[in-house]
Amino acid sequence: MLQVNQIDTRYGKIQALWEVCLRIEEGEIVALVGANGAGKTTLLNTVCGVLRPAAGSVEFLGKRIDGLSAHAIVDLGISQVPEGSKLFPDMSVRENLEMGAYPHHAWKEKQQTLKQVFDLFPRLKERERQLARTLSGGERQMLAIGRGLMSKPRLCMFDELSYGLAPLLVAEIFGIIRGLRDQGITILLIEQNVKHSLEIADRAYVLENGHVCLEGDCAELLQSDYVRKAYMGL
Ligand code: ATP
Repeated sequence: MLQVNQIDTRYGKIQALWEVCLRIEEGEIVALVGANGAGKTTLLNTVCGVLRPAAGSVEFLGKRIDGLSAHAIVDLGISQVPEGSKLFPDMSVRENLEMGAYPHHAWKEKQQTLKQVFDLFPRLKERERQLARTLSGGERQMLAIGRGLMSKPRLCMFDELSYGLAPLLVAEIFGIIRGLRDQGITILLIEQNVKHSLEIADRAYVLENGHVCLEGDCAELLQSDYVRKAYMGL
């Protein structure tokens, strides 16, 4: 579904990604893990069209998408749920959700998708008219996920979903992510929480200093001495 080929991405003279390759098959949950500053968000923003790669290419469903604008990439079926929720704080829950439905095909089905999001997160329905800035951390994360779903994505990319959430809530949110995959949405999880993400994903990539240093099936990576020592403190 997604193929990232030998991507270099720079901020001016600073190179943040070096020849990064990554592939996601339809129906998979893939995790991209790594420490602070490893380049995870840079990779996400390069796929989304927020950043342009200096070298390499990105293909989605066989079509080259690097060089397309971010909104054109959303139209093709890629949605991003950004780090720290990044909501519109002075808009209501419902308005935030509607902002996610701007792609033409999604706007037509807005009411139906809204109902699906409210079924998934009944707390959002209860707080439909409340301003986003008045929500708790967990509710904000639910709203960010819901807004991402409103564009009816085929591939949904989540940046640091578990950040700042209590363990019980992390388990609940990751359970919801699995459910989304079962409904046919392909998932890229970008996480510092290595253990949790390897437990839920099928395959994973480990990013260090802008390079992919390890990739493989999550079951194998969970057994890897390197991953256990470097990322799980075991
Ligand atoms: P975090 O989890 O802290 O967000 P990350 O793995 O997502 O980390 P990135 O945010 O992609 O890492 O950062 C990768 C590198 O690029 C870091 O060295 C960072 O300092 C640098 N960087 C990120 N954004 C910019 C920017 N706007 N200008 C210059 N350098 C940047």
